[in-house]
Parts: sequence; C-alpha cells; structure tokens
Amino acid sequence: MHELYQQLLRYYQEMTDISRVLSVLHWDQSTYMPPGGTAARSRQTATLGRIFHEKATADELGKLLDDLKPYEESLPYDSDEASVIRVGRRNFEWATKVPADFMGRFYEHIGTSYQIWTQARPANDFEKIRPYLEKTLDFSREHSAFYPELDHPADARISRWNYGMTVATIQPLFAELRRHLVPLVEAIRQQPPPRTDFLHRHYPEADQERFGLMVIEKYGYDLNRGRQDRTHHPFCTKFSIGDVRITTRFREDDVSDALFSTLHEAGHGMYEQGINPAYEGTPLDRGTSAGVHESQSRLWENVVGRSREFWTHFFPKLKAVFPEQLHDVDTGQFYRAINKVEPSLIRVDADEVTYNLHVMIRFDLANEMLENKLAVKDLPEAWNARYTSDLGITPPHDKDGCMQDVHWFHGMIGGSFPGYTLGNILSGQFFEAALNAHPGIPSEIEKGQFEILHGWLKENIYQHGSKYTAPELIERVTGKSMTIEPYMTYLKTKYGELYEL
Ligand code: ZN
Repeated sequence: MHELYQQLLRYYQEMTDISRVLSVLHWDQSTYMPPGGTAARSRQTATLGRIFHEKATADELGKLLDDLKPYEESLPYDSDEASVIRVGRRNFEWATKVPADFMGRFYEHIGTSYQIWTQARPANDFEKIRPYLEKTLDFSREHSAFYPELDHPADARISRWNYGMTVATIQPLFAELRRHLVPLVEAIRQQPPPRTDFLHRHYPEADQERFGLMVIEKYGYDLNRGRQDRTHHPFCTKFSIGDVRITTRFREDDVSDALFSTLHEAGHGMYEQGINPAYEGTPLDRGTSAGVHESQSRLWENVVGRSREFWTHFFPKLKAVFPEQLHDVDTGQFYRAINKVEPSLIRVDADEVTYNLHVMIRFDLANEMLENKLAVKDLPEAWNARYTSDLGITPPHDKDGCMQDVHWFHGMIGGSFPGYTLGNILSGQFFEAALNAHPGIPSEIEKGQFEILHGWLKENIYQHGSKYTAPELIERVTGKSMTIEPYMTYLKTKYGELYEL
C-alpha cells in the first residue's frame, strides 16, 4: 500500500476518534447527564469541536490529498483506496470553502435567533423573530455565494447532505409527487376515519420497551453492537461500527409513538452497523446521504412496520403483552388505526401520506425566499395559503404555522427539509428493487422473519457506506435514477385498499 495513503488513514483515524468522542459526549448529554454538567459539557464540546475543525481544514491534510491525486487516478474508481481519497477530498473542500470568520459570525447570529425563537413561538409573535429570520436569509445567500459553481442558492446546503442532488433534480420530482398526493389526501378525507381510541389506553412503559426491543432484534439490529436509552428527541448515534446506539421516549397513553420511533431509529442503526468494518475510521464509515439514511429508517418504520404482513405476525404478540388494553381489537382494526390519515398542522405528528406535503411546502417556500420571490414579512401568509390549498386546513396562528419547526431559526434556509421526503421516495424505490430480487419477502415478513430483506439491504446499500454518492447508489441498486413511481404505487395501493378508494 502507498506510504502516503497509510499516512492519510492514520490522519483520518485520529479525526474520526475526535468526532466519535464528541458523539459520546452528546449522547451522554442527551440521556444521563445531570443538569449540573451543562456548562462544563458545552465547553468540552466546543474545545473538541475546534480541534476537529482544525484537523479537518489543516494544510497538512490538503497536501496529503493533493499528493495522493496521481495514486487515486491510477486506481479503479470504486476501489476502497480511491474512494477514501475522493470522499476525503470532497469533505476537505466543503470544510475549507467557507471562511471560518463567516461561520463564526453566523453561529453568533443563529445562537441569538434560536433564543428569540424559543420566546417568540410560544408567544405567537412572528414580528419578534422576523428581523432575525431576515438576517438568516442574508447569511444563507452569502453562504451560497461561496459555491459559484452551483446553480441555485439552496444547492450549497442540499449538496452537503445529499451530494449529487440539486434543486433542479429534486423540484420536478416533488412537483410530480404533490400532483398525486393532494388528490389522494382529498379522497381519503371523504371517507370515514378508522377507530383509534384503543391506541390511547394505558400502556406501561416497561412492556412497551420489551416489545420494541423484541421487534428490532428480529429486524436484525444487533444489540451486542448497540443499545437503546431514553431521551427527549430520539436519535441514532455511532461511536464505532461495533457500537451504534439508538434512543427513544415513551408515552404511556400511546402504544404506537415509542414503537414506531424505535423502528425508525433502528433503521438508521442497522445501516451504520452494516457498513464494511474495513471502512472504520475513514471518510467512508457513515451512510452516504441524509436522503438514503432516511430511506432506511422509513423503510423499517413504515413500509415494513406499518404493513399488514407485519401486523399479521406481531399483533397477536402485542395482544399477549397488553391483553386488557386490546381485548376488543382485532388485527384489521389495529392495522387501520396505525395507518390513519388525517391532515394536521404539525409536521412531526403527520402520517405517512400527508407528511410529504408538509416537507414540500417548506422546500418550495425556502427556495422562493432564497430566489427573492418571497419576502420574509410575507412568509406567514404564503405558508397559510399553501396549507389551505395542499392540506385543506388553515393554521389559525403562526405558532403552529411558519414558526413550528426549529430548522430556519437554528440553521440556514434551504437544504434541510428535502432529505425527509427524498427518504420516503427512496424507501419505495429500494423496497421495490428488493421485491424484484426476492418476491418472497412479504411472506417472510408475515412469519416475522427479516433475514432476506435485511441481507439484501446490507449487500446492496449498507456495506458501501459513503463509497457511492446517493445518485450512484440508486442507479447501481435499482438500475435507474431516482423516481417517485414505486413510492406512489406503494401509497396508492396501500391507502386505496385501506380507505376503499
Ligand atoms: Zn430519521
């Protein structure tokens, strides 16, 4: 092996160690740390974050990557070595393109913006946050200017989290999806809603936890290389390929909240656990994009976890754990209840069908603001108009309208939302490819068995880590570029049958 390449691997191992230690600190802070630890923890995180940033942008690293260019070019594109150098260079360019001074000014501004948002939102006072949001929009445009090669001002952020995708590639797909979804939601609204009262009986936390762990173990989430703890906002984090953790939270008056959140995070976790162990400590050692990552959580949460096959197997088991709570419920009733579609104001509470409409509203409005077609002062009105036309409901106030999500008040505008819907679209496209390879998957799921599906995902998606960009991976796995068709077919078949459309 090339000597400089070995030097590069040692460099990346150290960088990875620092970033994984940061993850341990963050995990601890979100799970077990007593409140008294806050001040010291913030300082520790800032110190390590600074050391990481220095290493990620060091001239030494830039020179190593430059010197390795001829070596990279002598190797096949998808060899591990060429891929480490290629992805490493992409990360280096990202980290060095934007001046540290700009980011420093932005972080200072966004810290204040976040503080003001935490007051303005409960007070339903958009005017209070408006000047800060206007400044965030200026910062976002300024940030875009560091990427003159990209066409749209949102592309700088989109390509950070979904490399290879842009507004130009995403917008037509979203527009097509919206054309299908708006009438589907409208048709569902005409139908009687399913019964859901039993979901909200008393379900003791310990029993919920045992059941969820039993399911994700069957999925293939490896508890010898992972664990689950409690937190406020569930997430998945990774300390190494041998230690990928998930978190959840329980509500005793809701049997489905923690369960589906657990299935979701386990999907993220299995992706990270399934990466080729040889990539540990290199830039390849993580899922390839926000959208592909989200496709794995949505696949296990929704496509599998909310399917009739899944509940044919698991409902009798759930009923055995909660015999009193579910005494008057059968599998069909439970299946309909957990798939209830109901337009609502709040994105995070949305069901599988309406969720994407929430995301696409944010995607479009962010783009319009960045394009100077929508002024921040007119955002509430534009927001409410889209909720009325797309979901048939009008937010009565901005608190649950354009102020509901933290994203625009604690980060830049444009780029953060599309990953959620890309994940849904891709969950359909990947699942269709898995079914084409193994038509027996649904009958396996009906038996509570997931080895074939999990094995296929590991073989085709997980093991590669970041070696392929999302567009490359989609093409390799499904033989075509990203398309909404499999996902729309999935939604129309499932909900057409559920709501007798
Ligand atoms: Zn997720």
